[in-house]
Amino acid sequence: MLIVKKFGGSSVADKERIFNVAKRCIEEYQKGNDVVVVLSAMGKTTDHLIEMAKDINPNPPKRELDMLLATGEQTSVALMSMAMSAMGVPSVSLNAFQVVMHTSSAYGNARFKKIDTKRIRHELESRKIVIITGFQGVNKYDDVTTLGRGGSDTTAVALAAALHADACEIYTDVEGVYTADPRIVPNARKLKEITYDEMLELATLGAKVLHNRSVEMAKKYGVQLVVRSSLNNAEGTIVKEETDVESMLISGVAVDKNAARIAVIGVEDIPGIAFKIFDLLAKHNINVDVILQSIGREGTKDISFTVARDDLQEAVTILEENKNRITAKEIKFDDTVAKVSIVGAGMQSNPGVASQMFEALYNVGINIRMIATSEIRITVLINEEDVEKAMRAVHDKFMEE
Ligand code: ADP
Ligand code: ASP
Ligand code: MG
Repeated sequence: MLIVKKFGGSSVADKERIFNVAKRCIEEYQKGNDVVVVLSAMGKTTDHLIEMAKDINPNPPKRELDMLLATGEQTSVALMSMAMSAMGVPSVSLNAFQVVMHTSSAYGNARFKKIDTKRIRHELESRKIVIITGFQGVNKYDDVTTLGRGGSDTTAVALAAALHADACEIYTDVEGVYTADPRIVPNARKLKEITYDEMLELATLGAKVLHNRSVEMAKKYGVQLVVRSSLNNAEGTIVKEETDVESMLISGVAVDKNAARIAVIGVEDIPGIAFKIFDLLAKHNINVDVILQSIGREGTKDISFTVARDDLQEAVTILEENKNRITAKEIKFDDTVAKVSIVGAGMQSNPGVASQMFEALYNVGINIRMIATSEIRITVLINEEDVEKAMRAVHDKFMEE
């Protein structure tokens, strides 16, 4: 069997954890399996590298930022290989260039295009454990790229797909995917299974246990994932196309604090204005989520929407520069908001899920500022300070029955 095992930053945070991971990988290897290990940067390394960059230049060139961030993963894989060597087991560490893992050019947000498997196969054939840097790639200019925060999960899935691995295991600091972030909602339950579609919504809406693109890719290539703990042997959560267990009404609650609201005030109530606003943002690669348009009054209306907080400054600047073109009187923004979402395939056939969610928020006195829905999710925008109270109230409403 060929098994891809990915370990996140907290799982390799110090010497003891590195040896713990080495030991688990060696156990798999000694069963006669081929083992490919994907690692993230140790502990909070990536955060620290970003701080260092911003201290030198608050707006660092994206190419150089990727060059810097990629060093975090390179440190982990080299140390891991040294640990395995100390334990007497042959291994080799490889970075994205050595593999080669080809990506698109977008620094900080690159996507995999193609992974060469020859070098990996060659190393596996010589019975080495192959340890590969997560989160990074190489673009057509031969520059280092990164995949966006949390991207090592995507590296693992991409490798599992390219190598036709028999299993892809994501090891982290919790025992699996829960009905809510167990650090915010202590009575959250571990799920035995979850579908790709539900997991994709949860990941996109802020449950960072898996990088959303890793789920997208797993679905596309039919890679079944297991999310489990790097610290114990508890059974984890399986992510797959269809679950065997009867689908619950709600499979999870997610929170996203990386949200900001923009309001474009007093635009003309005529065709084409929404198009002009969102086209401007799309051309700058700025994603928009929840959108709300007010009823027209005296020929004008307001359009509000949310963007990722990291994009706020750029979005506001673009809109201000184009104020006349979009006929806006004023651009307002608020970066003290957060999104709380519920996700579940079961809500498609159950009216009243939205009202139950709103009732739970009303019961704890939380004001809803915006709402968005799809077939399998409902998202509300609230004040950031209310997030934890909202998560618990909504979770209890659906899970404590
Ligand atoms: P890693 O470094 O292993 O990639 P992450 O910090 O990226 O780990 O993801 C794991 C974290 O995701 C957990 O510690 C937990 O706080 C958070 N999390 C958020 N939502 C969920 C959820 N629904 N189930 C499990 N963990 C979640
Ligand atoms: N080290 C990167 C990050 O912190 C990638 C990852 O951990 O998946 O975002
Ligand atoms: Mg992660």
